[in-house]
Amino acid sequence: MPELPEVEVTRRGVAPHLEGRIVTDVKLRHTGLRWPFPQGLAERLRGMRVHSAGRRGKYLLIRFDHGTLILHLGMSGHLRVLPSATPAQKHDHFDLVLGDELLRLTDPRRFGAVLWHAASDGDVAGHMLLRGLGAEPLEAGFTAQLLYRMTRKRSAPIKQVLLAGDIVVGVGNIYASESLFKAGINPRTPAHRIGLQRYEKLAQAIRETLAAAIEKGGSTLRDFLAADGQPGYFQQSYFVYDRAGSPCRICGAEVRQFRQGQRSTFYCVNCQK
Ligand code: ZN
Repeated sequence: MPELPEVEVTRRGVAPHLEGRIVTDVKLRHTGLRWPFPQGLAERLRGMRVHSAGRRGKYLLIRFDHGTLILHLGMSGHLRVLPSATPAQKHDHFDLVLGDELLRLTDPRRFGAVLWHAASDGDVAGHMLLRGLGAEPLEAGFTAQLLYRMTRKRSAPIKQVLLAGDIVVGVGNIYASESLFKAGINPRTPAHRIGLQRYEKLAQAIRETLAAAIEKGGSTLRDFLAADGQPGYFQQSYFVYDRAGSPCRICGAEVRQFRQGQRSTFYCVNCQK
């Protein structure tokens, strides 16, 4: 599943092909993905200039003067920029055509989204899918104080609280395990038992982990955009994630795995207290 770093790398890759360009056509090859495609989308976008390609959480926000096109990659989606004459394959459900190039959304499992938010409905930040999102982890609003303040009444394990996404976005299953390892915090620790000093470590670990993933992804950006590119996402080497039974890279103890909610958590019993 594409996580925030993949979405950000995708955004950086496609933005120069979108910003300032004029939409010449929109092609929809299905009735919808997770939700039906917006009515009359082609009529709404043809002839309009793309203002900017932004991101909020895992949503890409393609902004026009009269509204915002919201894209989500779902479980299996990916975006590529291709010459506009490139024939569509089976799972290519959406094209935004911009003259000689197009932005193509391929989504085999159709859990992604293509939505429209009109400027007349207010700031896109107020959209139903965006308004409950937590802070952006790489922006100034995400601090240890925020983590501390918003967890004083939450007794759920810290890993679950991070995954909920209402305090900070982008800390999915992989990055929660990795960040908690770097911060030396046991994933089972009730969030309200963690003090400000440990949250300082955790906030720093989250920032570093996500920034490193984005940087790593930048070097494989070509794969996201090329016609023959792999639809998969960049491989990284992890400290604990998906390493159950292997030695901890810091202390050599065996990395352990257990279930939290419906997800696997990985941690080192020695390094994380
Ligand atoms: Zn260890």
